[in-house]
Amino acid sequence: MEELKEHKHKWYTFGCKDATYLATKADYGTLTFSEKLQLNFHLIICKYCRYFSAQNKKINRLFRASYEKNDLTLSLNKKEALNQVITENLKK
Ligand SMILES: [Zn+2]
Repeated sequence: MEELKEHKHKWYTFGCKDATYLATKADYGTLTFSEKLQLNFHLIICKYCRYFSAQNKKINRLFRASYEKNDLTLSLNKKEALNQVITENLKK
Protein backbone atom coordinates (compact mmCIF):
# COMPACT_ATOMS: atom_id res chain seq x y z
CA MET A 1 0.00 0.00 0.00
CA GLU A 2 1.29 3.41 -0.92
CA GLU A 3 2.30 5.43 2.08
CA LEU A 4 0.07 8.41 2.80
CA LYS A 5 2.01 11.56 2.00
CA GLU A 6 1.65 14.91 3.66
CA HIS A 7 -0.55 17.01 1.41
CA LYS A 8 0.21 20.68 1.88
CA HIS A 9 -1.44 23.02 -0.52
CA LYS A 10 0.67 25.99 -1.54
CA TRP A 11 -2.08 28.48 -0.94
CA TYR A 12 -3.17 26.95 2.31
CA THR A 13 -0.80 25.93 5.16
CA PHE A 14 -3.27 23.74 7.06
CA GLY A 15 -2.14 20.17 6.26
CA CYS A 16 -3.27 16.58 6.68
CA LYS A 17 -1.52 16.26 10.05
CA ASP A 18 -3.57 19.16 11.36
CA ALA A 19 -6.73 17.71 9.85
CA THR A 20 -6.27 14.24 11.36
CA TYR A 21 -5.57 15.84 14.74
CA LEU A 22 -8.74 17.93 14.54
CA ALA A 23 -10.83 15.02 13.20
CA THR A 24 -9.78 12.97 16.23
CA LYS A 25 -10.41 15.88 18.58
CA ALA A 26 -13.85 16.42 16.98
CA ASP A 27 -14.98 13.02 18.22
CA TYR A 28 -14.78 14.39 21.74
CA GLY A 29 -16.84 17.45 20.75
CA THR A 30 -14.20 19.99 21.72
CA LEU A 31 -13.52 21.88 18.46
CA THR A 32 -13.65 25.65 18.41
CA PHE A 33 -15.59 27.39 15.66
CA SER A 34 -12.42 28.22 13.69
CA GLU A 35 -11.11 24.65 14.08
CA LYS A 36 -14.41 23.32 12.68
CA LEU A 37 -14.12 25.66 9.71
CA GLN A 38 -10.50 24.65 9.04
CA LEU A 39 -11.31 20.94 9.31
CA ASN A 40 -14.41 21.09 7.13
CA PHE A 41 -12.60 23.12 4.51
CA HIS A 42 -9.75 20.59 4.45
CA LEU A 43 -12.22 17.67 4.22
CA ILE A 44 -13.75 19.27 1.11
CA ILE A 45 -10.42 19.32 -0.71
CA CYS A 46 -8.71 16.17 0.66
CA LYS A 47 -10.12 12.69 0.03
CA TYR A 48 -7.55 11.00 2.31
CA CYS A 49 -8.63 12.97 5.33
CA ARG A 50 -12.32 12.49 4.45
CA TYR A 51 -11.66 8.76 4.47
CA PHE A 52 -9.70 8.96 7.73
CA SER A 53 -12.40 11.04 9.40
CA ALA A 54 -15.17 8.61 8.38
CA GLN A 55 -13.16 5.56 9.54
CA ASN A 56 -12.28 7.26 12.82
CA LYS A 57 -15.94 8.02 13.54
CA LYS A 58 -16.95 4.41 12.80
CA ILE A 59 -14.23 2.97 15.05
CA ASN A 60 -15.14 5.28 17.92
CA ARG A 61 -18.84 4.52 17.53
CA LEU A 62 -18.18 0.76 17.60
CA PHE A 63 -15.85 1.07 20.58
CA ARG A 64 -18.34 3.15 22.57
CA ALA A 65 -21.22 0.79 21.75
CA SER A 66 -19.14 -2.21 22.81
CA TYR A 67 -17.98 -0.46 25.98
CA GLU A 68 -21.54 0.46 27.00
CA LYS A 69 -22.88 -3.03 26.22
CA ASN A 70 -20.24 -4.97 28.15
CA ASP A 71 -19.21 -4.46 31.71
CA LEU A 72 -15.43 -4.27 31.31
CA THR A 73 -14.57 -4.09 35.00
CA LEU A 74 -12.77 -7.05 36.55
CA SER A 75 -14.60 -9.24 39.05
CA LEU A 76 -13.19 -9.44 42.58
CA ASN A 77 -11.99 -13.02 41.96
CA LYS A 78 -10.13 -12.01 38.80
CA LYS A 79 -8.58 -9.02 40.56
CA GLU A 80 -7.29 -11.25 43.37
CA ALA A 81 -5.95 -13.85 40.90
CA LEU A 82 -4.19 -11.12 38.92
CA ASN A 83 -2.80 -9.60 42.08
CA GLN A 84 -1.41 -13.00 43.10
CA VAL A 85 0.28 -13.54 39.72
CA ILE A 86 1.87 -10.07 39.84
CA THR A 87 3.05 -10.54 43.43
CA GLU A 88 4.55 -13.96 42.60
CA ASN A 89 6.34 -12.59 39.55
CA LEU A 90 7.73 -9.64 41.53
CA LYS A 91 9.43 -12.09 43.93
CA LYS A 92 11.39 -13.73 41.07
ZN1 LIG B 1 -5.70 15.85 4.12
